[in-house]
Amino acid sequence: MMRPNQARLDLSAARHNIALARELAPASKVMAVVKANAYGHGAVTMARTLEPHADALAVACMEEALELREAGIGAPILLLEGVFEPDELAVAAKAGLWITIDNDTQLAWLEAARLARPLQCWLKVDTGMHRLGVAPARAAELCQRIAACRNSLGPPVLITHFACADELENDATRRQIALFEDCGAGLAAPRSAANSPAVLAWPEAHYDWIRPGYMLWGHSPFGTRPQPNADRLRPVMTLCSAVISVREVAAGEAVGYGASWVAKRPSRIATVTVGYGDGYPRTAASGTPVLVNGQRAALAGRVSMDMITVDVTDIGPVRLGDPVVLWGEGLPVAEVAEPAKTIGYELLTRMPMRTPRVVARD
Ligand SMILES: *Cc1c(COP(=O)(O)O)cnc(C)c1O
Repeated sequence: MMRPNQARLDLSAARHNIALARELAPASKVMAVVKANAYGHGAVTMARTLEPHADALAVACMEEALELREAGIGAPILLLEGVFEPDELAVAAKAGLWITIDNDTQLAWLEAARLARPLQCWLKVDTGMHRLGVAPARAAELCQRIAACRNSLGPPVLITHFACADELENDATRRQIALFEDCGAGLAAPRSAANSPAVLAWPEAHYDWIRPGYMLWGHSPFGTRPQPNADRLRPVMTLCSAVISVREVAAGEAVGYGASWVAKRPSRIATVTVGYGDGYPRTAASGTPVLVNGQRAALAGRVSMDMITVDVTDIGPVRLGDPVVLWGEGLPVAEVAEPAKTIGYELLTRMPMRTPRVVARD
């Protein structure tokens, strides 16, 4: 007997989602962002699935890039934060990685390095996120320096990142686009700005390269707010578990740690063998939807390490072993994230190794 918990992966959904990204940005190349273990899905599995459909991949750091190279992934891979030490440049050259240049120090390292072969560079421009990147006014000068550097493979791609692209009414994105247009005007450099929300909802920001991450996993960066393009995504991961106990609880009796949930009526409570140790958020509030036998029931009481309790009073007979879905097919992750005061990105990315990733559909 095995614990029934699985993060089931539908690889055909990932192919569908990257095809949607291409359809929405037909003139752009696609860089599939597979950092943080492909947002918890498994970097190697997802890179193998997406590589034939992407023009390049992106990760956060060298360790993540080398994991993919060791698994035989040959596509170009961009280090989104560049290198953290000058010695990494030789490793990047050997592994055929692309690097981001975010500041003067990284550029000085590049200019001073002796590399076996030149690197494709991406110059990060800070148009308002104020996390990484050079001031827009310096983009032209640094672009020329990179183009002239013997360790650079020609001019860099200009890259910027949006702070508020998931807020469709927020003018900040328009201001970032205007700054990015200004600093790129007259430069021969290709450009890249769009993360998932911008791929889905800001077509004016598609430029030469789009950089979708979250949307590839089939979830909407707009959370539970409807958006016509996001509504066409299909979830890759479905987090599954099963019922291991069912009991009747009298009105007035409490359920779970802290006795925080009290039955308002005679209730049937199903115990499910999934908890925060399996990636289900401890902060999920009572009332969060849980699918039991494909029907919506409500989380009742606090999330334990290995179990949750669910009010199944209204959904007909429930037996030991009945299937439970925590999110994925039939239940968008945002419906769990929002009552847990977080975002789907975090729930996916924090999925612990304890929960096996199983390819359920190829
Ligand atoms: C993570 C990341 C992305 C992908 O963002 P999503 O919202 O997941 O699509 C794109 N660009 C950069 C620089 C990133 O760090």
